[in-house]
Amino acid sequence: MNQAGMQLSLFESRPAREAFVVRVSARARRLTARVHIGGRVEIVVPRGVGPIAVRDFVRRSSEWIERKVAAMQPCVALEDPVPQEIRFGFGGERFAVEWRCGRARGLHERGGRVIVGAADPVTARRLLRRWLKRAAHARLGPALLALAAEHRFEVARVAVRCQRTRWGSCSTRGTISLNASLLFLREPVVRYLFAHELAHLRQMNHSRRFWRLVESLEPDYRSLDRELLAGWRQVPAWVHEG
Ligand SMILES: [Zn+2]
Repeated sequence: MNQAGMQLSLFESRPAREAFVVRVSARARRLTARVHIGGRVEIVVPRGVGPIAVRDFVRRSSEWIERKVAAMQPCVALEDPVPQEIRFGFGGERFAVEWRCGRARGLHERGGRVIVGAADPVTARRLLRRWLKRAAHARLGPALLALAAEHRFEVARVAVRCQRTRWGSCSTRGTISLNASLLFLREPVVRYLFAHELAHLRQMNHSRRFWRLVESLEPDYRSLDRELLAGWRQVPAWVHEG
């Protein structure tokens, strides 16, 4: 049997996701499975060992192979990475990000570390975005409500989103939506955005009255508004995809 034929029979025997490459080696003394960086699986076969023995070996080793394939995944995505550190401008927190490809799935945060269990970088970044939204809700929500209470504004609801084009918005029903990426900006800039959206609770426009109200809440609003507009450059690329 040629090698292509052997490969085909392996596919038939097992509903595998990965392709196996069979290599017949004159020096090999026994069947071995090798998993290369990126998850490519190679079965090294000593001369004279037939396809049935190879198939049995792969079946017996399948659990080990799967584990190994998962472990070798991070290297696939070097050109398409998961951040190693996340820094918040608002509040100044720093998190070391550890991406693990093992069996544990999901995201855990403890003591300044964010541990992401995901098989591929796309999933890892999706989990990070979900975490970012929760983090934004926990930090920005109370800060906005405190400012609202201080100036006697009534906010019906605070929502956090991952918008690409706006930092915040205010609905006629009194819901203020905040962009999770505000966490990457400096605190005074975020406070200006809060003041801006709170002012919309009373003035649903950008009239002179509106700006006078903003000014009464935040005298330095002009320069902060410019900084806010330029703030998109501070948002890491992993936040805005998909
Ligand atoms: Zn506005």
